[in-house]
Amino acid sequence: MADELKISLSLFTEGNEVDIHAIFSSDFLDIHEKELKFLEIISIQGKARRACDHILLEINAQCTALLPCSICNEWTSCPIVLNNVQLSKEVAEIKDNTFDATEMVREAILLEVPQFAECQGSCPERKNMECYCNKRAEKKNPKYFPFEQLK
Ligand SMILES: [Zn+2]
Repeated sequence: MADELKISLSLFTEGNEVDIHAIFSSDFLDIHEKELKFLEIISIQGKARRACDHILLEINAQCTALLPCSICNEWTSCPIVLNNVQLSKEVAEIKDNTFDATEMVREAILLEVPQFAECQGSCPERKNMECYCNKRAEKKNPKYFPFEQLK
């Protein structure tokens, strides 16, 4: 559980900023994907404040996602870094007088996960795959001449 991301609304007094410093298990991301894992520790820093009828949250976060390399299929690590990401929630939507940023932070982190990963940015297996890659690239040629064969 990420209790550090649950803040009582009573703390959001006029002009008050609530600091968030949290290091916790990546379990809260609740990821059960075959092709995505996270290393255990996620670190989040940020601040939250109230502006009229919204709670504004600005966070920095660091964690490491693991994805299968798109060339050799070995697990490869991808650092995920959130820099001053701004999130907001309407006060009217907040239940039990507790601003819970868990879901917002979770979504912000998942948005940063790349769709593809490759070992160290350039997989050592790539050279063995190049013949296949080139063939695939040819097939993907965007030029398509539907009447070519009519000549
Ligand atoms: Zn690889």
